Amino acid sequence: MRSFENSDAETILCHFGEEQKPHGAVVPPIYQNSLFTFETIEDFVKAQAISDKGEAYVYSRVGNPTVTIAERKLAKLEGTEAARVFGSGMAAISSAVMSVLEAGAHVVAVDTCYGPLRTFLVDYLPRFGVSHTFVDGADPQEVFDAIRPETKLVYLESPGSLVFRLQSIEAIASHCRKKGIATAIDNTYATPLYQSPAALGVDMILHSATKYLGGHSDITAGVVASSFDRLERMTKNEIATYGTLLAPFPAWLLTRGMRTLAVRVKRHEESANEIASWLSEHPSVELVNHVSLPSFGQRELFLKQMRGSTGLFSFQPKSQHPAKIIAFVDALRVFQIGVSWGGFESLCVPLEVHPMYMPSSKWIIRLFIGLESPRDLMTDLRQAFECSGL
Ligand code: PLP
Repeated sequence: MRSFENSDAETILCHFGEEQKPHGAVVPPIYQNSLFTFETIEDFVKAQAISDKGEAYVYSRVGNPTVTIAERKLAKLEGTEAARVFGSGMAAISSAVMSVLEAGAHVVAVDTCYGPLRTFLVDYLPRFGVSHTFVDGADPQEVFDAIRPETKLVYLESPGSLVFRLQSIEAIASHCRKKGIATAIDNTYATPLYQSPAALGVDMILHSATKYLGGHSDITAGVVASSFDRLERMTKNEIATYGTLLAPFPAWLLTRGMRTLAVRVKRHEESANEIASWLSEHPSVELVNHVSLPSFGQRELFLKQMRGSTGLFSFQPKSQHPAKIIAFVDALRVFQIGVSWGGFESLCVPLEVHPMYMPSSKWIIRLFIGLESPRDLMTDLRQAFECSGL
């Protein structure tokens, strides 16, 4: 059997985890089944004893060979012992958060974390006596100061997905490790190709695989990459009891999507960099929030902990007139109005950003640069500026 243990990321994306080729099939089959059967009770009992470790299959709510292929690839890419895939990014996030909490625990989270996680921390977890502190996170000392004796988790998202603020991952992870506090990071923006939080000491690496990893806007999926121990416990607890594991067919689509991740991400990066630089010179634009621009406020940190940027950024128009901003977005003909990002298609959403993220409330326009021609995308933006008078 071929081995891809020591391969580069591009080769891992194509082949790792799929070495067993039933009938020589170049694409692995989908094990589209809910359960696995056994010849004897002895075999059944043996399989049950090791299925939480992923060493045997009993029931697809806990594990399935098609799901395992995506998981093995993701663990290898993130440099962790293991990974598990979930029915959505939020299923991965909430399972990871729950896996380290107990009644009375405290969570420190960056204030730019994904909105539904904020809701989980603010509206849901207090029912179980779990409290939280939000921090800006740009200065690690602010994170350290927010830690209490009962803090069980420090949650990062770097870069965030609205104004793209970064946290100093290594400094925060090493402080938390010394104090025995678990760390988690949402690594969706960077993908495993452009940022390796496990190498910087983070315990749980999370993704919305709905975005770049799936890459075609045809699945919702999530990832937790971590140690064998943490994931074995998560399998026994959150995965088995909440039923959050990804189903075989979307797992197969995820593996298919990942094969082209490296070429897609490179293309998103090049096109977004070209369009963000052009917008940063545009007379109607006050500010472009894009991590790879030379003017980005945390440039040194970006160069230190990331290997590249991807396709998502936002800009603040000089005119803050909501009607003009809406007219601009309505005038776009290639960009489509929609949440999410990371697929083939360019997307746009106007957002009034919460004062916590900025000195005062501001309208920003978030763009996701898809795989279309950057020339067509710039022509589209140019005509929308003209039509709307923004
Ligand atoms: N993390 C980030 C940064 C996101 O943008 C999203 C979704 O938009 C999520 C997590 C949640 O992922 P999902 O929609 O797959 O549940």
